[in-house]
Amino acid sequence: MNTISIAIHGGAGTLVKGMMTSELETQYKTVLKKALDAGYVILENGGSSVDAVEKAVLVLENSHLFNAGKGAVFTADETHEMDASIMDGKTLNAGAVSLIKGIKNPISLAKDVMEKSEHVFLAGEGAMQFAKMHKHTIEDESYFYDELRHQQWLEIKDSDRFQLDHAKKKDSKFGTVGAVACDVNRNIAAATSTGGMTNKKFGRVGDSPMIGAGNYANNKTCAISCTGSGEFFIRGVVAYDVACLMEHKNCSLKEASNEVINKRILELGGDGGLIAVDSKGNIAMPFNTEGMYRACKSSNGEEEVSIYK
Ligand code: ASP
Repeated sequence: MNTISIAIHGGAGTLVKGMMTSELETQYKTVLKKALDAGYVILENGGSSVDAVEKAVLVLENSHLFNAGKGAVFTADETHEMDASIMDGKTLNAGAVSLIKGIKNPISLAKDVMEKSEHVFLAGEGAMQFAKMHKHTIEDESYFYDELRHQQWLEIKDSDRFQLDHAKKKDSKFGTVGAVACDVNRNIAAATSTGGMTNKKFGRVGDSPMIGAGNYANNKTCAISCTGSGEFFIRGVVAYDVACLMEHKNCSLKEASNEVINKRILELGGDGGLIAVDSKGNIAMPFNTEGMYRACKSSNGEEEVSIYK
């Protein structure tokens, strides 16, 4: 029997000490576990890795704790603009959306772009038209409101700064969410969803919806979902770089993802982390920040739900 496995993240970086209470920690871990189980049960029942990563991300998008869907960060215009992408490692099909507003579940929209359109990447108005055509649920602004995110925005709204939702220095953290999975047929997939960075403007787009940067899957190598300082992850083509190290340098999943997160991206000046699986069901979850909201489970007994190192 092939190994099935899933890994999820709710962003690298953590709340500054003092803001993380044990109660809040329990809340984070409870949602992470729920998302993990939602994906794992699909794999256990013989379902596809694509369905598993979508379902896991849906749970995280529907929680206000993470910077994706409900709870997405505020833009400079005090609104929410979300990005998401999904990729199927068997076919190399992919779907991505960017600069969308009000969509309850951006990851399902990205999946529809992959499955119901001829395109890979839809943005802005056009993506919204496509969402309406396919009857995606649209929520009003109040659905996405979160007190903490609003506070983070109020603190920097009059500056030119834009900030990651969980950065080391301030109270910010990267709350992007993602999932990667390997199913019983050894097909792998990756999904990533985010509200991007607090106070972003000018139509800023991060790495999360960019295939190869924040999200990538190829049965030959690995499935990857990233979180971190998007500008650096785009320039480092992080997700694809891990795949390249495996394909061309024969690195293992762990070696390749460590090399990229703990060396290459640091040299560029970026911080963050990623989750990865390969088609043998191996899992890696490296990060170069203080913590990363993460969880994983596989049929060979591995199971973890953690935040800090
Ligand atoms: N990578 C995301 C972005 O730059 C942020 C995050 O990981 O939270 O949009």
